[in-house]
Amino acid sequence: MLSAVKGLSRYHTEKSLEAHLLERSHRAENGCLIIHGYGPRRGTHQKVAGRAWAHIAAYVVLVGGYDPALDVDQTCGAADCIEPTHLRQVSRTEACRSRTQPARCRNGHDRELDPATGRYRRVCRTCNREAQRRWREREAAEVARARAAYGRS
Ligand SMILES: [Zn+2]
Ligand SMILES: [Zn+2]
Repeated sequence: MLSAVKGLSRYHTEKSLEAHLLERSHRAENGCLIIHGYGPRRGTHQKVAGRAWAHIAAYVVLVGGYDPALDVDQTCGAADCIEPTHLRQVSRTEACRSRTQPARCRNGHDRELDPATGRYRRVCRTCNREAQRRWREREAAEVARARAAYGRS
């Protein structure tokens, strides 16, 4: 399966590649496994082990079942993350779209992945719940006001 990793140094085996990836990465506070590839740029896709993309190499050896026809994407939105549970395969158009999908809603809640599509749910459940609560409070206030007005007349 390593042959599917373009640009990979041909001296690598699955075991040595796995060790290489883990050696070059560190665990971030948010659970991401951030890889340090060649070159000074961080927060972008990283190259390792020759000229291989780290996130693709990680998918092959840490996740398994890599499909070269599909792209590898990080659900956490960090392009230099190789945490296996943050990696998924998506079609190329979907990968482009999901890069524009922020991992948090505009109120800062972690967004939920829809298992059916592998994309974030459009509606934030926490926001939705809070909106419903506000609506119920407004309703209750309205009823109380109406009762009070009725009582006065
Ligand atoms: Zn991550
Ligand atoms: Zn929210």
